[in-house]
Amino acid sequence: MDINSLKVLFTEEEIQNRIKELADEMNNFYRGEEVYSVCVLKGAVMFATDLVKSLNMPVKMEFIRLSSYNGGTTTSGKVNAVDISLPDLNGKNVLIIEDIVDTGLTAKFLLDFMNCNFHTKSTKFCSLLDKKTARVTDVEPDYYGFEVDDKFLIGYGLDYDGYYRNLKFIGYIEKQV
Ligand code: 5GP
Repeated sequence: MDINSLKVLFTEEEIQNRIKELADEMNNFYRGEEVYSVCVLKGAVMFATDLVKSLNMPVKMEFIRLSSYNGGTTTSGKVNAVDISLPDLNGKNVLIIEDIVDTGLTAKFLLDFMNCNFHTKSTKFCSLLDKKTARVTDVEPDYYGFEVDDKFLIGYGLDYDGYYRNLKFIGYIEKQV
């Protein structure tokens, strides 16, 4: 993939402004509460670290690692739990932080996992991006930053074959068939 062929969808400034808006909503919702954030690696790492910096309640950061992509631009359709070790989340406010909800299979897997293993005080799902038209499940994020078209997105945590997660903006290439 040629980096010069990437078209910018969201600039660094747009991303950071939207994250502050999301954090404001969460600061209102969780007022007086403690939160366990659960960052879904690797894609959500940039978003999660920026988001929690704008949260003003006590936050514990947890990280889990899932995978569903084949390495290129296609999903395998099957969610693999690479590392999903978490502390006892019974009675806690859990905020799952994802990069993008696409088919929704990962979100459904995670929400089912939480339901099966813990009686949380609350479980909220936050995704920076929401590809609503690609959905094959009925899962909807409680918070999302931007609704996006069904394009393959790269940057700000989202990779192309492992690369480009470090871009400060989010760009796209046309879907390959
Ligand atoms: P879902 O299970 O909702 O289909 O997909 C969730 C995961 O697929 C995301 O966490 C992300 O890792 C990957 N994914 C979905 N759409 C894109 C995309 O447009 N670009 C990249 N780089 N990854 C994506």
